[in-house]
Amino acid sequence: MKALVYTGTKEMAYRDEPDPSCVPDEVLIRVDAVGICGSDMHAYHGHDPRRVPPLILGHELAGEILEGPGKGRRVTVNPLITCGHCEYCVQGRNNLCANRTMIGMTRAGGFAQLVTTAASSVIELPAGMPARAAALTEPAATALHAINTAMRSLVRPIPECRTLVIGGGAIGLLSSLLLRHYGCRHVSVAETNPLRRDSAQCAGAGHVFDPVAVPPAPNSADLVIDAVGMKATRAMALAAAKPGSVIVHVGLGDWASEIDMRKLTLAEITLAGVYTYTTADLRAAAVALHEGGFGDLAWVEERPLSEGARAFRDLDEGRTPSAKILLRPA
Ligand SMILES: [Zn+2]
Ligand SMILES: [Zn+2]
Repeated sequence: MKALVYTGTKEMAYRDEPDPSCVPDEVLIRVDAVGICGSDMHAYHGHDPRRVPPLILGHELAGEILEGPGKGRRVTVNPLITCGHCEYCVQGRNNLCANRTMIGMTRAGGFAQLVTTAASSVIELPAGMPARAAALTEPAATALHAINTAMRSLVRPIPECRTLVIGGGAIGLLSSLLLRHYGCRHVSVAETNPLRRDSAQCAGAGHVFDPVAVPPAPNSADLVIDAVGMKATRAMALAAAKPGSVIVHVGLGDWASEIDMRKLTLAEITLAGVYTYTTADLRAAAVALHEGGFGDLAWVEERPLSEGARAFRDLDEGRTPSAKILLRPA
């Protein structure tokens, strides 16, 4: 098969690789479309000790089962392969599975014509769902999981909340689109890249602005979603958060930084970390994508897998307006 292989820092090679073979309890999938994730970019920069080259990255995929249970079905997958029996799996919180592994990280991922994964990780698609939308299930589920987490702590319903989304990448954009779909009238999106600002504005993400030129007003947001997770965005989130508000931290750029615990305490702000999605979130995200809950997805860009190395370079250099590039194997 052809695959795009991460061979070293800022090196992606499109080359022949052996076809993966399907073992019992696994499925072999022909990949139709696969998204480039921020975490793939992180690996590309050599910043992810868990993703060791040479490795086929990619975990946001849609395709068809060629071998194994469900043969012939069109599916997306939960990139996390979870054990099904630990404390978290039995609670339905399998994103926290103590024994989880992941495609595109601990085993080969989807930047290839073929991929294998656990049969239990497969999510069947709604009938007629195009691969283009289906490949967005994973980032859409991340946004959905973040908003579900926020809603458990918010005092006011979502339509009444003033929300600030920090970051106009895929997670920030999908979060703001879902908030709008849920009836949230006041959604602001902070994004520093002007190309991405235009794209987010066109997608209908809400009020899109440059936080460097105009910082968000202090104490103005009922809900803040930090889809970047850097020192500066954490400070921005806490400054913009109203007393009694909720911050969900979903992006993870810097691993550690100082936060204003005085404000967090005196203003009773809930700060929630969120990580990925449960299987239930993935199923809900696939349905929501198919039913238009995230809009028309016209902002998604598609390129052939053979030109994947170029796509990584363009993303690295901020030369593409699109918050998501999908690669299509031939
Ligand atoms: Zn991802
Ligand atoms: Zn588990």
